[in-house]
Amino acid sequence: MKGERARNGSGAAGPRRATAKPPAEDAPRPAPPDAGAGPSPGAGPGGADGPPGQAPPAPLPAPAETGLEKLLLHPTKLGSLLRWDPERPDPLYPISVELSLTNRCNLNCRYCSDSEVRKWPDFFHIYHLTRLFEDLAGGGTTGVTFEGGGEPLLSELFPEALESCLGHGLSAGLITNGLMLFARHVPEKLVSRLSWVRVSLDAANEAQYRALKGAKGFAKAFENVVRLAKLKRGPAVGVGYVLTNLNDDPRLLRLLAEKLRDAGADYLQIRPVVDHPELESRADLSGTFSGISGPGFRVDLAPLSDNLPEGNLGLPCRAHSITAVICADARIFTCGRLNDRPFFPHIGDLALMSSAPADFGPAWNGKLRKMQNRVLARPSFCSENCPRCRITKYNRLLDDLQRIRTPDFI
Ligand code: SF4
Ligand code: SF4
Repeated sequence: MKGERARNGSGAAGPRRATAKPPAEDAPRPAPPDAGAGPSPGAGPGGADGPPGQAPPAPLPAPAETGLEKLLLHPTKLGSLLRWDPERPDPLYPISVELSLTNRCNLNCRYCSDSEVRKWPDFFHIYHLTRLFEDLAGGGTTGVTFEGGGEPLLSELFPEALESCLGHGLSAGLITNGLMLFARHVPEKLVSRLSWVRVSLDAANEAQYRALKGAKGFAKAFENVVRLAKLKRGPAVGVGYVLTNLNDDPRLLRLLAEKLRDAGADYLQIRPVVDHPELESRADLSGTFSGISGPGFRVDLAPLSDNLPEGNLGLPCRAHSITAVICADARIFTCGRLNDRPFFPHIGDLALMSSAPADFGPAWNGKLRKMQNRVLARPSFCSENCPRCRITKYNRLLDDLQRIRTPDFI
């Protein structure tokens, strides 16, 4: 499973969904009462809260669990990012980190952009992870996303790692292909303790699933999404969908979204395929999901535009520090998109005790990151090297904020 960090195949926590199924976000509003008609029984003039003759407003749609706005929940980090300069990397720890426990996978997706990473060895021992979680929690990180590399639930370390992560006061999210959810080592009790789970379904039926992922699995993954959504006080449940020219039939997509909403999932996030131009979709999805989103469910199409630009829009990458990538071979990277490029090496190695910093803190505040910060401050470096990347939208926001000429006014 790939992280949404950058690649195909995949985070965000949030409040538990409402259980009742609400009216849809963009459903037609109820017609206003006929002129001259009296108020409905029990309501005041014009209804419960509205002015006379006006229907109550439609409920607002569910917020975006993976949206840009979430940065506002971390004002200290935002302030630090705005003070950033090329010689001084943001010293605050990442808000959350993307942690791979294994590079192995039980699928073989055509669009997998971690195919190089999947050749790397697994290394972690629970000892390294416990140390890591202690360090992250002490440094101010609030969340850990278990993701790819490969499929996190293939790692026998997952239960112990999750316990340790939560035991150190960190919140945990999971990006998975969903096939091994509720397996013996991943029981409901454990899954319920996650803040969120996003299942990378990436298909609207079994035929599409097989064509894209190289194996049967749609029915099982969908069944597990339904089971997740039924958990009492369970995690926020999202479904990830990498849009390609093999799964972009708007009619099937709408049907999938309706099924997910009716099952009680929180959101369907549709993202563009990256690194595989031969699979790019030209489908026009405008209007496809009309009337589906509501207070308990959202179809999030923003990544289809936000994640599209290459070259980081010619901006420096200061927002890299909202997250960090820790691979299953125990190396720490500042960027999950360039971590397979030889010119952009790791900044630390949790497995080594001598030649590179062996703990997160020394790596994060060490000279290798300082050097990379300087490189990432060069717009020309980003223009030439950054592929499509979800961090670009944060860099755009920070750049916009810094160019505002009237900051003292609303
Ligand atoms: S092959 Fe595995 S790691 Fe790659 S996108 Fe598919 S499920 Fe994710
Ligand atoms: S350096 Fe480029 S590719 Fe890496 S996180 Fe920043 S914008 Fe994304």
